[in-house]
Amino acid sequence: MDPGAPLRSGQDDGAEVERTEEKKDSEAGSLTVVGLGPGEAHWLTPAAQAAIEAASDLVGYGPYLDRVAPREGQTKHASDNRVEIDRAGHALRLAAAGRTVAVVSGGDPGVFAMAAAVFEALEAGNPAWLALPITVEPGITAMLASAAKAGAPLGGDFCAISLSDNLKPWEVVTARLEAVLKADFVICLYNPISKARPWQLREALALAARIRAAETPVIFARAVGRADEGLRILTLAEAVETAESADMATLVTIGASSTRLIARPGDQPWVYTPRSVTKSPSATSQGRT
Ligand code: SAH
Repeated sequence: MDPGAPLRSGQDDGAEVERTEEKKDSEAGSLTVVGLGPGEAHWLTPAAQAAIEAASDLVGYGPYLDRVAPREGQTKHASDNRVEIDRAGHALRLAAAGRTVAVVSGGDPGVFAMAAAVFEALEAGNPAWLALPITVEPGITAMLASAAKAGAPLGGDFCAISLSDNLKPWEVVTARLEAVLKADFVICLYNPISKARPWQLREALALAARIRAAETPVIFARAVGRADEGLRILTLAEAVETAESADMATLVTIGASSTRLIARPGDQPWVYTPRSVTKSPSATSQGRT
């Protein structure tokens, strides 16, 4: 990456960077990658809040920046969702120019999000950036928020897979999925579906249904922590049939063989996975593959 290259992302203000770069020897900048949590302000950690307040410049995807109240003297640099590396490079250039930069991400910044993009840009970028103080402030990731709403589905071993094939081939997704299905992990699916990727979730759930029992609990948790939050507890068979009802704001959790429901009056059942395991994964998937 050429650190002097013109900025390409969205509303980035290249002229401003040029001006601030002149100050770089007199001021030490910094960069913090901040997790905003899934939605509610009270799910933002005090450390993340402090990093946002301390920032002279906020960098991120527009809708995430909108969640941060405007403050006088603080500049927001909004960009499109698909330009993570450009955005990360812009943030590093601002920090190198002496700014106190916060890069904001939904949920946790290290989970399928901006922290990895920042380190990717750092690795490929100007060696001078290696001296910058960089901090990652964690946030509550969607799978933890969703699990908390449903009960305790992550009580045993679990894993997370992004269904997006933007950054990896679909064959990699299905190979990993098959491996963890056979190993009887609870599986959280991020990025389950989008307009550009309409069929992957149904295919992933259909693969699950070939290995796990039809009555396995599946959680569709949508926009957790926001006003339009929705939680649906389904069987795996139902989930396959209703895959297209999920959207980009949905986190899908597929239960393990031990994941079960506890009925409760007047509400959806609790979903939980006991901490103890008595059967081997091969015993639980036998005859279904
Ligand atoms: N860094 C984010 C994940 C980014 S990937 C985090 O830690 O949560 C984007 C995917 O996360 C979405 O497609 C969806 O699967 C999930 N997601 C993000 N916010 C969510 C929310 N509030 N409710 C449910 N799922 C969410």
